[in-house]
Amino acid sequence: MQRALFSRSALLAQQTAKNALLLQRLDRSMSSVTIPPPACMLRPLEVPLRYLFGPGPSNVPPRILAVGAKPIIGHMHQEMFEIMNDIKRGIQYAFQTENNMTISMSGSGHAAMECAVFNVVEPGESVLVAINGIWGERVAEIAERMGANVHRMVKTPGGYFSNKEIEQAIAKHKPVLFFLTHGESSAGLCHPVDGIGDICRKHNCLFLVDTVASLGAAPIFMDKQNIDILYTGSQKALNAPPGTAPISFNDRACHKMFNRKTKPVSYLLDMTHLSNYWGCDGKPGQSIPPHRSRCLDSSP
Ligand code: PMP
Repeated sequence: MQRALFSRSALLAQQTAKNALLLQRLDRSMSSVTIPPPACMLRPLEVPLRYLFGPGPSNVPPRILAVGAKPIIGHMHQEMFEIMNDIKRGIQYAFQTENNMTISMSGSGHAAMECAVFNVVEPGESVLVAINGIWGERVAEIAERMGANVHRMVKTPGGYFSNKEIEQAIAKHKPVLFFLTHGESSAGLCHPVDGIGDICRKHNCLFLVDTVASLGAAPIFMDKQNIDILYTGSQKALNAPPGTAPISFNDRACHKMFNRKTKPVSYLLDMTHLSNYWGCDGKPGQSIPPHRSRCLDSSP
């Protein structure tokens, strides 16, 4: 009995010594952390249900919210490429286009806006921007920052540009790109686009349209309306979470974008890399496994 008690207390002493050693080690490793975890990180995140009635962000249906709880997979997994292909087909449908060069940018509408301008315009080239609210002004600034020669057509907020006025300005400034906002959210105007794509073709200029606030709310037909580059945002009429921006380039835009003399000013938004990752360029790609090339063709 005495012996049993003795060996039990010896065991306990051993265990206590081990624990003390562990605590010492933990203490030493923790000692480099001088900033304690903030209280907000120790409590669950609470987000109230609010009804959103502005152009965006908008309320997201439970079916879409539930998708956000799916497991994370690797960006190079076969299933990931299949999901990306499905996303591409969905955008082709929403944009009403057969353009193979159709992807969804990581980022908000601004990312797509910069992507469009950075990829098709080179420093010194002429760009014409229709300004009837804040979004045209924003694009003009983006184009100026990358060294384009920017010409502004200005109307009071919500003002309308006739096709005649647009053609006259294009003929005068000979831009490589003409920008128009379809849904000018700052002024509440949905601008007609019919006929403008034809004018741009006639003058060898690309037609870029911002539908961040309007896609899904007002009709737009990229191919039929001869729009060369179209982008939108996810968090407005599409009722999806923010953070991704669908964009599509037709063959004319691709020709300009992939025959440039200088590299685009942004690495992140360079369509050479993005189109390869999305399997839109027909090339196997450095990091894209061979099976990927099976899903490179595109048509819906
Ligand atoms: N264009 C238009 C017409 C917009 O309404 C907005 C957002 N209000 C943007 C571009 C910018 O999009 P985001 O906020 O997603 O960057």
